[in-house]
Amino acid sequence: MEKKQFQAESKRLLEMMINSIYSNKEVFLRELISNSSDAIDKIYYKTLTDDNLTFDQDNYYIKVGADKENRTLTIKDTGIGMTKEELENNLGIIAKSGTLAFKKETEIKDGHDIIGQFGVGFYAAFMVADVVTVISKALDSDQAFKWQSEGTEGYTIEPHEKADVGTEITLKIKENTEDESYDEFLEEYRLKEIIKKYSDFIRYPIKMDITEK
Ligand code: ADP
Ligand code: MG
Repeated sequence: MEKKQFQAESKRLLEMMINSIYSNKEVFLRELISNSSDAIDKIYYKTLTDDNLTFDQDNYYIKVGADKENRTLTIKDTGIGMTKEELENNLGIIAKSGTLAFKKETEIKDGHDIIGQFGVGFYAAFMVADVVTVISKALDSDQAFKWQSEGTEGYTIEPHEKADVGTEITLKIKENTEDESYDEFLEEYRLKEIIKKYSDFIRYPIKMDITEK
């Protein structure tokens, strides 16, 4: 198992996410589902140019699963997946936003709708989770990898078993505090509501799998 640090800038952003300056926490699900959808788009476009691959619509979907007893929420997709290098390079890097623009805007707007404007993306998971685990197998790759982070201390990465190409992200949902409750993110009706609100336009099926206590 390898242990790595986040870049200084990523660490700062991550701290902001963990401390949840943003009140609209539910958008984490929009961010993760849109990443899954992008990943399926990528495998779909590959099939258009590669005669050896075919795209069977039925095999491509996103699955949101909650396990109340273990307090985990899982977002699984059958997209293009990530190699070890991609896990290291893509997760937890401030994406398209650009650090400077991000900084200016936060100073001016005092944190108002940062995520809406910049699509902070994957990091949004840390608003509701204290451990994030990503298991991914890339197309054309024999070996899957597990990336795991508890936040600012960095992340670990190691080989892992996964049969199918795609990505599975598991969030260990935070315990409730005096001020905040996170239980809603394990409730089927609430997850459905969030998906309807933000992910209605997603072109791939979003399946649900809830395990009650
Ligand atoms: P953005 O989507 O704007 O690029 P994110 O922080 O949401 O930024 O995601 C960063 C990158 O991580 C994505 O561009 C993609 O390369 C990779 N990624 C995230 N989630 C997935 C996923 N489910 N499958 C494949 N790649 C992913
Ligand atoms: Mg994204």
